[in-house]
Amino acid sequence: MKAIVVGSGAGGATAARELATNGFEVVILEAGKPFTTLTHKISWLSSLRGSWLVGDENSIKRFYPHYQVTRCSGDLAIFTGITEGGSTSISCGNMVRAENGLKEIGLDLSPEFEEIEQTLTIMPIPREKWRPLTQQMFDHAISLGFEPKPTPKIDDVKKCVGCGYCELGCTTGAKWDSRRIYSGLLGKGVMLQTGARVQKVVFEDERATGVLVSHGSSVERVNADIVVLSAGGVGTAQILRASDLSPMDNLWVDVVLTVGGVMKGARMLNEPPMAWFIKRENYILSPYFDLLSFWFHKPWKDVPAEDRVGMMIKLADAENGCVRADGTVTKSLTSSDLESLEKAKFEAKQIMEASGVNGPFVDGMIHGGHLGGTVPLTKEDIDTMHPSWLPEDLWVADLSLMPRSQGLPTMLTASALALRVARKIIQIKSKR
Ligand SMILES: Cc1cc2nc3c(=O)[nH]c(=O)nc-3n(C[C@H](O)[C@H](O)[C@H](O)COP(=O)(O)OP(=O)(O)OC[C@H]3O[C@@H](n4cnc5c(N)ncnc54)[C@H](O)[C@@H]3O)c2cc1C
Repeated sequence: MKAIVVGSGAGGATAARELATNGFEVVILEAGKPFTTLTHKISWLSSLRGSWLVGDENSIKRFYPHYQVTRCSGDLAIFTGITEGGSTSISCGNMVRAENGLKEIGLDLSPEFEEIEQTLTIMPIPREKWRPLTQQMFDHAISLGFEPKPTPKIDDVKKCVGCGYCELGCTTGAKWDSRRIYSGLLGKGVMLQTGARVQKVVFEDERATGVLVSHGSSVERVNADIVVLSAGGVGTAQILRASDLSPMDNLWVDVVLTVGGVMKGARMLNEPPMAWFIKRENYILSPYFDLLSFWFHKPWKDVPAEDRVGMMIKLADAENGCVRADGTVTKSLTSSDLESLEKAKFEAKQIMEASGVNGPFVDGMIHGGHLGGTVPLTKEDIDTMHPSWLPEDLWVADLSLMPRSQGLPTMLTASALALRVARKIIQIKSKR
């Protein structure tokens, strides 16, 4: 039995492996190119900062085509990894269970979380590898009554050189990404095509029987017994719309805003990002050098990298975004999002000030990169993991299924959802 899996990120890689190890012949169609790191080029690129070559966030494409930037509204941009490994290739390597909204729909992913966690080495970056300021901010956060915790990371700590550029790719191989999930199966049940952008799903007798995929300017039809969409919260919704189906206007992105401060010689880029985090009701706070703000956000321009300090707010935002067939996205912050951000900004500043960080405290660029919610599971779907409005043999296995925003890292959740979906496919197909 042949399965097409669209996308090689957290969801696609997990679904592909599970299907391939259970007798399916799997073809992964990945829009992006093979992943390459930018980290080794960063020193000469740094000399271009502030020049006309580096304007707004859209100039990223010129240097790093793996990042896709979509402006959703005046105040919000979204970022996603369009490359082999998807957004996991450009992640910070944080690995936690994000479960907001699952209880309400009666979905317990604990078995999948446990199983996936057992196959990985997840541990925090030891305190001695944190910069002195990061250690001080951790201690001051405790004195202020917060409960910071070292962030679980999926890194080989021994290989990590603390370059701070996890999101531009890891040159030492310390950081995990989803390519590792299927790499051992390539040519043994899994075939991977990169540069293969799926445009739409093809149906016959109301069943999915394949996809139309473009390779540059040529379009090819690929047939299969089942089609699994794992193109991420935006990519999957875009393909569904182009296939005359209606994903929900329920996109969430986990809004990120990094409050910037200044301390001479802080050198936050000489440690892995987000070494610890504080979990608040609907957001987290975490020390973070926001590369996007440093490069593209005018209010951050005047402070050199070695003196810039950042405290990230990652907020579980309102699920109100809409994805169109051409990939454009409409989403803006609600008054409740803005209220939560104000509260979080106050706390971020409080921790930084207590640790000797100076102002001016400036907001970073507002962006999001955890894209979900466009094919939200409901209570009725849990038994089959197949939303009833999806035609037969068309499945979704990525973060699109997660109904609620998280304000937490989401790779593990995308993988756990995909694992559950893949097992349902195997169960259902073996009965037919
Ligand atoms: C900068 C950044 C840092 C992050 N850091 C962390 C972190 O530290 N920890 C964490 O847990 N989470 C992190 N995340 C979030 C996490 O990476 C994602 O939530 C997770 O990877 C989502 O999995 P997914 O399978 O839904 O989508 P993705 O992993 O994004 O995979 C989607 C795949 O589909 C492909 N695709 C899209 N459209 C098409 C198409 N039409 N045809 C074919 N292929 C297509 C894409 O190229 C991509 O490979 C980060 C995200 C970003 C952007």
